[in-house]
Amino acid sequence: MPTDPNTLHLLNARLADGGLWTLSLRDGVIAARAPATGAATAGEASLDLAGLLVLPAPVDGHVHLDKTLWGGPWLPHEAGASVRERIECERRLRRDARPDVAERAEILLRRLMAAGTTALRTHADVDDDIGLAHVEMLLGLRERFAADVTVQIVAFPQSGVMTRPGVAVLLDAAVAAGADLVGGLDPRAIDGDASGQLDVVFAIAERRGVGIDIHLHDADAGGNEQLRDIAARTQAAGLAGRVTVSHAFSLGTPDRQDFARTADALAQAGVSILTSAPGAAPMPPVKPLLDAGVSVFAGSDNIRDTWSPLGSGDMLDRAMLVAWRQGFRRDDDLALAYDLCSRFAANAMGLPSRGLEVGDRADLIVLDADSLGDAVARRPPRKHVIRGGQVIPSR
Ligand SMILES: [Zn+2]
Repeated sequence: MPTDPNTLHLLNARLADGGLWTLSLRDGVIAARAPATGAATAGEASLDLAGLLVLPAPVDGHVHLDKTLWGGPWLPHEAGASVRERIECERRLRRDARPDVAERAEILLRRLMAAGTTALRTHADVDDDIGLAHVEMLLGLRERFAADVTVQIVAFPQSGVMTRPGVAVLLDAAVAAGADLVGGLDPRAIDGDASGQLDVVFAIAERRGVGIDIHLHDADAGGNEQLRDIAARTQAAGLAGRVTVSHAFSLGTPDRQDFARTADALAQAGVSILTSAPGAAPMPPVKPLLDAGVSVFAGSDNIRDTWSPLGSGDMLDRAMLVAWRQGFRRDDDLALAYDLCSRFAANAMGLPSRGLEVGDRADLIVLDADSLGDAVARRPPRKHVIRGGQVIPSR
């Protein structure tokens, strides 16, 4: 067989079944896998993992690179408990303390990459104070790191749309400038005009041919009502598979009939649900949603910013939190928690399939753990991060 200098063989790679395998990576995908013999192929590159565990690399489905204060001095949390108070606190800090948003965003991006994340969706604030400044900053950051990480940008109206004159036009301009998706925020609770905000958001998505990702924090039955409205609009606009609702706390409330009706509408319409495994808020129940046919995935959300002082950017930590909040204990459940942070996120975001099968994208992490369950429980450091079949040098 002719040798191929573009092939990288991972020798003695431990996979989820506990066995040792040789994974052959070529043209950015897993080209072959076979039980390990330990033998290298002459003329082709190989990396002997000596029994280290290989997992599909994480995907962070929801992060706010432009909000983080990471890299600066510790800032005690000041904001009140409501979304509205947190919006005002953030706007005040941005005006008075003027943190270097670009520098902090890069520090956090590097941290995510060091933990093995090779694709992420970041929301970029768009409002009547900053206009498109954060979108433009993140577009520049994406370009500089394009070789190492896939970045999707959501134009996110953090302060509302209908109550902030000019923001609807700015959202459209953000998408025209290169944002991949248009966002929304609590159409009823923040704007007091659910159909008005959703009209604006869906009109931009249809006109510009982009997807949608809406933050929805309502925890009462009105939340599920808005979810069903979003599902109906998604179907009408032919946007199945391209619409996400982030947080969707109302799915975690106990009315089982309302839940079933709403989950069915989301599944029929192809609307995905993103969760960060939130601390105190009701969490969408992962297994009942999957059983109903709804796509569910996970992301970090806020990492050390005016919204939360916590968060690490490590998606193994997020998988642990998903498992913790959902009461997952068995190995197959811990694996499911990690799927939300990797395979399922890639699917929901329209990225190439990731996993450990032939044909899956060769985005992988390597770590010292016995099994996936052990990795989620202990979250050991990453020994190697591989993207598109290439080992990423730490930078
Ligand atoms: Zn968010």
